[in-house]
Amino acid sequence: MSSDTNMASAEVTLGFLEEAEPWRLRSPQFPSKVGGKPAWLSQTGIPSLPALACEICRLPMVFLLQVYAPISGQDRSFHRTLFLFCCKTPECYAHNDSRCMKVFRSQLHRRNEFYSFDPPPDDEPPNDPEQYQCVLPVSGVKLCWVCGCPGNKACSRCHTVTYCGKHHQTLHWKHTHKKECCSSQVASTVTTSPFLFPESELVTEPEEEEERNKEDTTEAEGGEDTQRIVDCPSLADESALLERDLEEMAMHETEDNKVFQRFKKKIAAEPHQVLRYDRGGSPLWVSSQHIPSDQDIPPCTCGARRIFEFQVMPQLLNSLCVDSTGASIDWGTLVVYTCSDSCNHDDQYCPEVIWKQDFSSDLHTQSKHS
Ligand SMILES: [Zn+2]
Ligand SMILES: [Zn+2]
Ligand SMILES: [Zn+2]
Ligand SMILES: [Zn+2]
Repeated sequence: MSSDTNMASAEVTLGFLEEAEPWRLRSPQFPSKVGGKPAWLSQTGIPSLPALACEICRLPMVFLLQVYAPISGQDRSFHRTLFLFCCKTPECYAHNDSRCMKVFRSQLHRRNEFYSFDPPPDDEPPNDPEQYQCVLPVSGVKLCWVCGCPGNKACSRCHTVTYCGKHHQTLHWKHTHKKECCSSQVASTVTTSPFLFPESELVTEPEEEEERNKEDTTEAEGGEDTQRIVDCPSLADESALLERDLEEMAMHETEDNKVFQRFKKKIAAEPHQVLRYDRGGSPLWVSSQHIPSDQDIPPCTCGARRIFEFQVMPQLLNSLCVDSTGASIDWGTLVVYTCSDSCNHDDQYCPEVIWKQDFSSDLHTQSKHS
């Protein structure tokens, strides 16, 4: 995802999910992806617990997605990836509280100690890409079997698997490791962890200008459009979640409703979009409630202000299998703000700001954030 394209054409880039061979989603390919383990960019300064714990329930968060978004013309951002993490505890998703989500930025010069100067070959590498999930090849950083985040606490019996902490060690033990530990099977079964979200590639395409103009026109027509959108069968099929909120909102002729209808119209042309990328642009809000003021988005530690970079759409929830894992994590949209300077942090992963906006179903439980 190249941000200069967006800036130049003032276009929004949309992200869609697509299946991909696993090796294409590993670090040397610089992927944008959802689910699985993080494909870390820099192999040093990687966030770990407690930075990767939910600020509400304190449990380790799970990797949600990463967006590869270099800034062309800026040497320090030749490679640049943003990593999103979220909590899996359903209770943490109440009341527009963003503390159950975190985002980190990593960037590298073209000449760096981890990847070749030239683009990666387009055919499958001979070495096993899974190796990147256990120990990072250059820095030697050990990763947790369960979550793929830094973890150097080894199983005390077999010493073949490592964890970020007690919580994930226990999870793995109960799941499969009790049977595998100290048996010859360990190596062959170290693949997928039930903790992770299903993995897929994030592919992008520009949002069509024509469609946007058309939508703007219909928006101006007012009243009866609302009914037409409500009846749109393809949208209803698209997401039961959206339909539920749509029905609730249809009862109110409010400012909130207007914002929500605008949201619906914008995404109607491409209902499968899971991400909207528009660095320096403006987010598409799902509600008039809980929109951050300038003071709500703190400047970067370098002093530069943070700007909107991309947002995650509620459609993504459909692909996360959150029902089957018993969780009901939820959002209207997740809006990511990053340093306008995309500054360097000595190769450390730099925390940025994520803002969770819920659908206005909790209109009556006035939100509060810290
Ligand atoms: Zn939590
Ligand atoms: Zn872990
Ligand atoms: Zn063991
Ligand atoms: Zn900065």
